[in-house]
Amino acid sequence: MNQIKETHSTCPYCGVGCGVIISSQAGQITGVRGDPQHPANFGRLCTKGSTLHLTAAAPVTLHSRLLHPMRRAARGQAPVRASWDEALGTAADTFAQVIRDHGPDAVGFYISGQLLTEDYYVFNKLAKGLIGTNNVDTNSRLCMSSAVAGYKLTLGADAPPACYEDVNHADCLFIVGSNTAWAHPILFRRIEEAKARRPQMKVIFCDPRRTDTAEIADLYLPVQPGTDVMLFHGLLHIMLWEGWTHPAYIEAHTSGFEALKARVRECTPDLVSRTCGITKEDLYTAAKWFATSPATLSLYCQGLNQSSSGTAKNAALINLHLATGQIGRPGAGPFSLTGQPNAMGGREVGGLANLLSAHRDLANAQHRAEVAALWGVDEVPAKLGKSAVEMFQAAADGEIKALWIACTNPAQSMPDQATVRRALERAEFVVVQEAFATTATCDYAHLLLPASSWGEKDGTVTNSERRISRVRPAVPAPGEARHDWEIVVEFARRLEALLPPRMAPSPQPSPASGRGSKTLFPYPTPESIWLEHRESTRGRDLDITGLSYALLEQSPQQWPMRPGDTQGKARLYEDGVFPTPDGKARFADVAYTPLAEPRESRYPFSLITGRLRDQWHGMSRTGTLGRLFGHVPEP
Ligand code: SF4
Repeated sequence: MNQIKETHSTCPYCGVGCGVIISSQAGQITGVRGDPQHPANFGRLCTKGSTLHLTAAAPVTLHSRLLHPMRRAARGQAPVRASWDEALGTAADTFAQVIRDHGPDAVGFYISGQLLTEDYYVFNKLAKGLIGTNNVDTNSRLCMSSAVAGYKLTLGADAPPACYEDVNHADCLFIVGSNTAWAHPILFRRIEEAKARRPQMKVIFCDPRRTDTAEIADLYLPVQPGTDVMLFHGLLHIMLWEGWTHPAYIEAHTSGFEALKARVRECTPDLVSRTCGITKEDLYTAAKWFATSPATLSLYCQGLNQSSSGTAKNAALINLHLATGQIGRPGAGPFSLTGQPNAMGGREVGGLANLLSAHRDLANAQHRAEVAALWGVDEVPAKLGKSAVEMFQAAADGEIKALWIACTNPAQSMPDQATVRRALERAEFVVVQEAFATTATCDYAHLLLPASSWGEKDGTVTNSERRISRVRPAVPAPGEARHDWEIVVEFARRLEALLPPRMAPSPQPSPASGRGSKTLFPYPTPESIWLEHRESTRGRDLDITGLSYALLEQSPQQWPMRPGDTQGKARLYEDGVFPTPDGKARFADVAYTPLAEPRESRYPFSLITGRLRDQWHGMSRTGTLGRLFGHVPEP
């Protein structure tokens, strides 16, 4: 009789990062429940999380899995089964040929916030360390890059300073550009509970649509799409006029206020009311609650991020927290909610075309040298890589010849589908590394590489509140599917043998890097990758050198966690010192830019993005389960 096995892991959907306990029997996942010990959810799961086992076991899901490597001789032909040896050999030979003929920037990697941190790390090292191109970007670019830029511009580092527990300490919640009720359901349950316990907590909800999140609001601001910067500047205008800012905090802990003050002078209540489409009374109330409540917490998501002025929106909101001193205390701070389960992990390892490991900048020569030294390569290229949209444009233009796509479905989810599909058709070689055979992007692949999925994978993820959790395998991957990191490492080792050596000429021994070994990718386990990532964070704002897989077995931890720390840090900037050269946060003097096409013009509609409560992304997993269409049958 097969015993029921229980495995602690993490939900693979949204950035709340709920802990789950997976039941399995005889190699099959049979159940899932919330992990009562996990600090993100304390045992709760939303509809998506609580049906994970059904999507793992449903015959239609199993039927839709990619089980073997497949190759296509030419587009339009049916793919035929290949061995791993043949598939990875073809991939390495083709990439090496493209790199020899056209240079390293003729290849690109488009990866995903669904990947684990260990997967992300090796992809990044493969592109920037081995091949010598920064053409590695991710679908997180489409949702999180403006949050990264906003934090760095103002606070000096890409670090959300607050935590979920702050919901219980806030006196004012400012939810803006986030349908939290649907996009982060378990966090929303916390908000509902906090509001029930303390009805005096004010909730301001700001969004062009009156979504379910509005149900909990004391004040709803139905702003016109794209006018957020004007709104935030208008709030600061009123705060200044009424004397609701915090001059002592501004003086001691910030710089650049005078320029911003001059800019918001013109953002009068009249102008803001007209531009944003809200009443002056509501504007005044919002300014008062935000500034004068003992603790104000902002929660924001794609409404601020997915925008042509996303960085300005993020920065303008953070300005309000700095001007009122609403940061670095329980219940106070600007808290960007991540959409994907591991957008944060990707940011930590520098998995974007303009970033490097451990929140380093590609544009910074010293940072490049530090990463090159860690990896044991002669250099990390200085030339900026192509961001997601640029990468597909370059492939459509014939500049990028070989594309590697992992764990994401750009033929469905990228903007400007005509260009994306042209890119996928024009590229000479497209590799798709995927768990599901049914995604639209698979149709364009020359090579399909089967990857493991939730319930099978092993590694770590980081949620919105900087909390690192273990992802553990309950069952083996089906068919010949392999873990994402394993596929990358095996490919990298083969490619390494075909390319000129990139190792530094006089390697110094470092247990964290591949120096001294014959490969830059000497990883037998995900933990061995994670240890190198951990080493890269030493002395950085996200330092986790006090953490280990063994400690993560006991409980998920927030970063930073330095040597000697008994637990990770719940809140940042409590001492008012920021990771900038002078230790001060910087006000961002950002301009309000109206939408390109005014509503009065021949473009009468403003379209915004949104989420369905019970579906996830392109629905390759959730779409296999009939009951998840019960809430909303179609977008
Ligand atoms: Fe999963 Fe997010 Fe739902 Fe939690 S709230 S169970 S992480 S989808």
